This record gives sequence, structure tokens and C-alpha cells, in this order.
Amino acid sequence: MSGAMGGGVALSSLGFNLGPTRAYADELNKMNRIRMARQSTTICCYCSCGCGLVCSTDKGTGKIINIEGDADHPINEGALCAKGAGFFQMTEANEHRLRKVLYRGPGGDKWEEKDWEWALPRMARLIKDTRDKNFIKENAKGELVNRCEAIGHYGSSNVDNEECWLITTVARALGVVYMDHQARVCHSPSVGALAESFGRGSMTNHYIDMQNADVILIMGSNMAENHPMGFRWVTKAQERGAKVIHVDPRYTRTSARCDFHVPLRSGTDIAFLGGMINYIIENQKYFKEYVLNYTHASFIVDESFYFKDGLFSGYDADKRKYNKDTWVYEYDASGIPRRDMTLQHPRSVFQLMREHYSRYTLDKVSGITGVSKDNLLKVYEIYSATGVPDKAGTECYALGWTQHTVGVENIRAMTLVQMLLGNVGIAGGGINAMRGEPNVQGSTDHAILYHILPGYLKTPSASLDTLEKYLTKYTPVSKDPKSANYYSNYPKFMVSLLKAWFDKAATRENDFGYTWLPKMDDGKHYSTMHMFDRMYEGKIKGFFCIGADNAVSTPNASKVRKGLEKLDWLIGENIFDNETYQFWRAPGVDTKNIKTEVFLLPASASMEKEGSISNSGRWVQWKEKACDGPDQCIPVGEIEIKIMQAVKDLYAKEGGVHPEPILNLYWNYLDKDGHFSATKTAQRINGVFLEDTVIEDKAKGTKTEFKKGQLVPGFGNLQADGKTACGNWCISGSYTADGINKMKSRGKEDPTGLGLFPNWSYAWPVGRRILYNRCSVDLNGKPYNPQRNLLEWKDGKWIGDVPDGPWPPMAEKEGKYPFIMQRDGLGAIFGQGMADGPFPEHYEPLEGPLTKNPMSGQLINPAIEIFKSDRDKIERASKKFPYVITTYSCTEHWCSGALTRWQSWLLEAQPEQYIEMSDVLAKEKSIKNGERVKVSSVRGSVTAVAMVTQRLKPFTIEGKTVHQVGMPFNYGWLFPKDTKDDTTNFLTPTVGCANTFCPEYKAFMVNIEKA
Ligand code: SF4
Repeated sequence: MSGAMGGGVALSSLGFNLGPTRAYADELNKMNRIRMARQSTTICCYCSCGCGLVCSTDKGTGKIINIEGDADHPINEGALCAKGAGFFQMTEANEHRLRKVLYRGPGGDKWEEKDWEWALPRMARLIKDTRDKNFIKENAKGELVNRCEAIGHYGSSNVDNEECWLITTVARALGVVYMDHQARVCHSPSVGALAESFGRGSMTNHYIDMQNADVILIMGSNMAENHPMGFRWVTKAQERGAKVIHVDPRYTRTSARCDFHVPLRSGTDIAFLGGMINYIIENQKYFKEYVLNYTHASFIVDESFYFKDGLFSGYDADKRKYNKDTWVYEYDASGIPRRDMTLQHPRSVFQLMREHYSRYTLDKVSGITGVSKDNLLKVYEIYSATGVPDKAGTECYALGWTQHTVGVENIRAMTLVQMLLGNVGIAGGGINAMRGEPNVQGSTDHAILYHILPGYLKTPSASLDTLEKYLTKYTPVSKDPKSANYYSNYPKFMVSLLKAWFDKAATRENDFGYTWLPKMDDGKHYSTMHMFDRMYEGKIKGFFCIGADNAVSTPNASKVRKGLEKLDWLIGENIFDNETYQFWRAPGVDTKNIKTEVFLLPASASMEKEGSISNSGRWVQWKEKACDGPDQCIPVGEIEIKIMQAVKDLYAKEGGVHPEPILNLYWNYLDKDGHFSATKTAQRINGVFLEDTVIEDKAKGTKTEFKKGQLVPGFGNLQADGKTACGNWCISGSYTADGINKMKSRGKEDPTGLGLFPNWSYAWPVGRRILYNRCSVDLNGKPYNPQRNLLEWKDGKWIGDVPDGPWPPMAEKEGKYPFIMQRDGLGAIFGQGMADGPFPEHYEPLEGPLTKNPMSGQLINPAIEIFKSDRDKIERASKKFPYVITTYSCTEHWCSGALTRWQSWLLEAQPEQYIEMSDVLAKEKSIKNGERVKVSSVRGSVTAVAMVTQRLKPFTIEGKTVHQVGMPFNYGWLFPKDTKDDTTNFLTPTVGCANTFCPEYKAFMVNIEKA
């Protein structure tokens, strides 16, 4: 380095430009400093690819001096997208980071700096008073409900698993039922659809596995821009000869890298996929052996079931709900579903499906979707060619499928395609739900959601007032000896969860504390949209908003902001300020009239704390701590512990309403220095023996002894008698009994050559990398595709991936069906649990360009909920709002932009709100590229820069020209300050999927004018 500098001085005196030499010296200096620094590994905190990064921390100052991609990480192999590459700007080097506790008093017009000692007792007082004053012991029917509807809770998929678990724990102990997080508005339909069809709600395969596919259908996603490091594996498959198809309204960077792009009108995916199902069946492209043996295709449906003119049997028009009593199978005398193995029975699932989709002709589908018949045939032919044993087709989707009134059914339609083609449970196959946020998989596993408890156990409802009633309802029973029916272990999972929460206080005599939990009213929903509807009515008094920005991200944002104005208090936890925390000084708001007390608590960023996060492929990866958070910043886990401890102290001192779940809550998650211990929390989640326990395995003839305090080695060891505590049975097994944290594993071995990396991190369940992998073998356990040998039954044992259930293959005496989480053990083509029909059916979006549904007399999904407050805020096919709009994200921003808009490197690349439109529409409207335009819907308006492209083209729908436009959802008013931007969600409707209430962000109607 001194040589370079010396040379530079000499050259300088001769008048040469020293810039490059100095830059070289700087680089050498930096490398030297990095060499002297302490390295730690972390995981990117944006999308769900779960890329690895290495942080270098100056040993002297304790500050991070560099962050770069982790070359050892099997997913990103050192590469990063724009957001990952800008990770350094999340550290305290960013001047916009929150550093102090901030408080805004009633009527105040600015933040005041406070400290934890001041804020904690004040927050605890407000929480307790609100809870005590508004607590509901019994509902209108006199049923015990023990809940508090006056406190709402939102977020977060952007914190670590251990923090998520503490959040869900705090909310349940307080009695909160209006509780949700980002999964609701992004991937809740994935869980609804995939769990219905296969038994679990997760991505079936994982990112690296995409390299094993022969055909990749990307539909409902702009993967190259939104999951860039996952997309690397798509391009690797392409290099090996795979065909990659992109079906999307816009031509994007994903389209540019695919073999071909097919544009389709937003909101018509079921029509497109219905046509594909019809094509597969009529052209006998399905994998018959698979369909027959591994799915419900042969089951006989009750004769009272029917479908007529867009409605299934059992519809109640007044309630907009189905009675599903006729959506059932016939059973034989021994209680096993009747089957027709010829698939010819007219009421077999297969024949009903065939009849249903025979209506989806090429003409019909082309007229609805705007896709030419040639393009339809091209996709159908290429994709259905994977319906043979030695080919694999995979599907990658994201919000383009979930954010619709038919979100669950979009995905369900693809599950039908994949089951017909035998593409589930195989390497290079499956349905890849690419989650948006870094830990939306984990935050869903840990159930920061109103309708489930950790591990996808159901939230108790009012009619289930005892644990016995609850367990009887939710523990499935199968009479079929071939069905593993793994959820028959429900009591072990539930009792262990209650013990994790209430420990010694949970006894058999008090139903293990079950009655202390809040209970929902039967049939009532408490989702994000319901929560903000209630807030808008002024019935929610206090609100926790953790790592989220609802004022930007939630549909019908003006309604959301009006709701926030009615709160008594709001507690925010985040690393940057945002539009939700500052709702009181949003444009047009008179802060003097707003009584809300607002607490904004400074949190540590992702690399400033240790803990685990789960990527979409269910890899639970441990992050090391690189440094402390700046100033008063502490991890969200610590904030939760401190708030709850302050509340506990108040109840202990003063008493109060329904104190049991608060006072009895096991709350020992601090380390010896009084800080949040992610390790202690992770071990509680994994599970621990509370007593000395002997576990007998009758099949193996073994007995194993475990000591009190020893960690549970896996969920197979959990007990229903209170001897084990386990915070989330799905994750049980992430530690060994000896306390080794498998989430930290960094083994790079790949024995199958399929990119499973079994020793890298921990994949739930049980380390399994590809779910339902017993479908990859025939009835005797021989791989269908020996070239991609995922699993094989050899010499009486399974070899390859961790088998999805240890039992032998189906043909063996003790063999079991492959979908072990399904009561009947098989893939469910006929969706008995769906709110809007057992077969996906095309309905038009709530707001769309057509006045008639070409498929039936039912224009819109008959089972969606339309909120009272929004009924006059719907306008379809009108001259006033003639254009279809869809919303999306870009590589440089993340979700509402609440983190990325504060980062100059990213903001420089994507500085402000825009609306993309076709050159045809722009010409019609005399709008020039770069001009500012006003975009309005019946709910509100927003301005944006016009981006005129040929990437969007007008569609011909039912013979008429329909224009589609698109806007990103990454902008708000608070920052950057030099634009006139605000959220796209002023335009979106408060309506969502009939099954999971994921909002419709992807298809509604707007107008465009010059601003
Ligand atoms: S945003 Fe996603 S793709 Fe980009 S670096 Fe982070 S995890 Fe990887």
C-alpha cells in the first residue's frame, strides 16, 4: 500500500490524475481494515430468498464497517440484489435511524425525546387501563370468551422467529383477538390453498431446487425483480435446457429472461388455469398412476353435491356463505371413503373435475383473459409435457396470485394442475410460494394471526369452552389404516404449547390454562381489514404497530388513516419512522384535534441482534449479532419482554380483570445481563421436558429416558399429559437433546446432488427439504425419475431427503399414503374446506371492466365479504373509471418502502411514484412520458409520474379493448420529502379473498388525467 502511495506522490508531481491511485489505496485500506475486523454472518432482512451476508465489525469501535454477500451461502453464493447490496445503509451509519424513544402527546405537533424508564410504565398503564375497561368475559350468547376487542395488534414478518413468538404470546396473554401481520396481506392465501390441497401451507420445494425443473411456469410474480437471488436458480435450470414461461399482465425483467412471455388480464388466472386443467384431462396428459394413488381423484362425492351457473350446492345468498354439508365424500361401512379406481364413476372427484373444467374452452378462456388461443395452446402443451414420471414442472408465484378476491382459489387451481401432472413432492416440481418479507414464513409459523396459534393450531372459538371440546373438534380421525393422519397428534401439540406459555400454572385441573386464552366468536373474523374497519368505527382504542406501515400498506388508506385518528394510544416498534407513526401530521390532518398518545420505540436492526429467520423454503437460519443497536435501540424481543413485564408488575400490584394469563405467563427470556436471549426463547419454542420422561417406541421396541430440563429432540417426543413444553411443534427438532442449535449449521455437503444441502441451517419439519417427497417414488418406493433421485426405499429404509413420514412405501404392509398431514392421506383435488367452492371457478374482480361473467351468471365471487362502510365505494365497468390497474413492487424498494425509502443508494435508483401505461393509452390520453398525472378511483386519488412503455399492451376482452395500467406500492408522503407522492392504497378497495381476507390489490378500476 505504501508503494502505491509513494508512486502516487511521484506521479502527482508530474501532473497525472491521482483519483484512481487514491481509490486503489482506499480499497486496499478498506480490505486491510476488513481483515482486522470481526466477521459475523447474517441473513438479508428483505425478501424471502434468505440470502447470506457477512458483516465486518471494527473491533475497536464495535461498529460495522462493511457488509457483503456470503460466498459460502448456498442460495446466493455471495451475490446480492440491490437491496442486499445496500444492507450497510440499514446500520447506524444511516442518519435516519431511530435512536431514542419518541413520544407524541395528545394534540402535539412534534416528537419529544424520552427514555425507556419513562415510556415503559406509561405504556403499561395505558395497556392495562384499556384492557381492564374493555375486557369481555362473555359474548352475547353467554359463552366464555375472555378477550379484549379494544386493542389491535399488527406486525411483524420483519422480526426474528423468537421475537415473533414473544409477540404472539404477549397478544394472547392480553386477550387480543384483532391481531394480524403482513402475511394476511401477502401470502395468507398460500396457507389457505396449499394446506387444503396438501396438508401444509408452505412452499413445497425451495429456491435451489428450481434448478432441477424441466419447465418453470412463473405466473403471479415478477421473480427476477422481487426474488432476484431465487431467480438465479431459474436461470440455472434454463442453462440446463429447461423452458421458462412467464404469464403476467406486464412484460418485465422476468419476461425478458424467460423463453416467452404471455400477457393476461389481471384477475383472470383461474380462467387460464381452468383451461389448462381442461387441456390436460381431455388430451390425457395426466400422470395416471400418480393421480390414482396419491390424490382424491377416485373418491366418490355425495350425490347431493352440484354446481350450477356459477354456484355450488349449499349457497345462502343472504349470508353470502355456503353451507358445505353436501361437499362430502361417500364412506363405506368401515368408515373409509368409497373409491372408483377406474375414475369413471360420474361422481368421482375426477369426473366432477372433468365436467367442471370442460366449460373452460380455448375460446372462452381467450375471451376472458385476453390471451390468444395460440399462446394458450403453447403454454398448455409445454407445461403439460411434464405429466410423465421423468419430467418435472414447477410453478413460482407471489402476490400476483394471492392479492385477489379469489386468492386462495388461484393457487388451488395450480395445485390441481400439479397433482394431475404428478409434479408435487418431486425434485424440480411443486408450487413455490415466494413470500415477500424476510420472515413471513416464520411469523406465520408462530401465528401472529387471529385465526391460528403457533404451529397452525386453530384459535379457540367461543363454542369450544373446554380443552376436550377443542381437541375433539380439531383432532382428525381416520379409519383408513394406510393414512398416517399426523394431526391425530393435535393434543400433544396443543398441551405442549399451553405448557410453554403457562408452565407450572397449567395443570390438568385447569385444562392447562386453555380457558384463559381469548376466544373468537364462531364464524366471526378479526383480520387486518376487519381490524381497520373496527378502528374506523372508533371501537379500537389502543394499537400496536410493529415493523409495519399500515397507513401506506393497507387498502383504502384514507379509511385506515381516519381509523388511526380515533385511537387513544399507539405503540410503534421499528428502526425508522413511517407514515403510520406520524399519521397525526399527514397532509390535511389537523394535529391539534388528535388525542392519540404515540410511542415510537427504537428497535435494533436485523444485523444488530442474534436470532433466526425462516425463508420461503422453510430454512430456519440463525443470524449472528454483528454489533449493538445505536443509542437506545434494543431488539423487538426485548421491547416485548419489557412491556409485558411492566404490565405483569401492574397486575401483580393492583390486580385487575382476568389476570390469570398475565400473571401465570412463563416469562423467563432474559440472559444473565438482563437482555433478550434469543437462545432461551428458541429453546422454549423447540421444546423442553418438564419432568423426567421415558418414551417408548413400540414399533422399534425401544425405550428412551429424558431428564427434566433436557431439550425435546423432535415433535415426535411431545406429550399430551403436560410433561413437555413446546412453543411451536413445527419447529421442534431445531435443537438436539444435547442443546446443539441446528439453525446455526453451515454444512455444504450435497449428497443427492440436487441442492438439498441437508446440513445447512434447519428446515422444518425434521430437516426435510422437499415436502411430500414420498410422492417421488412408486408404490414400492422406487424413484419415478432415477436421474433426479430424491428418495428411495432400499433395504428396508429410506435414502435421500428426510422422508415425509418414516413409514414404508404404500405397497408394504405397514406402508402409508404420502400426504401425511391430510386426514385421508392423499392430495385433495376436491376442496371441502374452501369458502367459495371445492373447485376453483372464475369470477370477475369486485371492480372490473365487464358487466357479465362469461363463465356464469355470478359476476363476482359470491362468498366475499363486502364491508358496510365500503358499500358505496365500489364502481365497476363505468365510464368514470375505465382502466384496470394492478400494483406491484420494484427491486430497489421493499413493501411500503418504509425501510428502503430512507436509504439514499436505493432511493437514487427508484426515487418516486410512477404509473406505467401503454403507449397506446398514453396517445389516447395525450399523456407524455415523464408527465405528472392524477390517478383516481372511487375511493381517492394520488399523483404519479407517467411511465409510457410498450411493456403493457391493450387487451381484447370479449371483443372489447381493455387498457391496463400498473403502479408500485412503495411510496408514501413522509420520505422522500421533495416529491408529491403518497400511497397507491388511496385507490385500492377494502375487499379481499373469500377464504383468508387477503386484500385485492391486483385488479380494480381507475381513471387517469393529466395532473
Ligand atoms: S432482497 Fe432477497 S434476493 Fe435480495 S439480497 Fe435480500 S434476500 Fe437476497
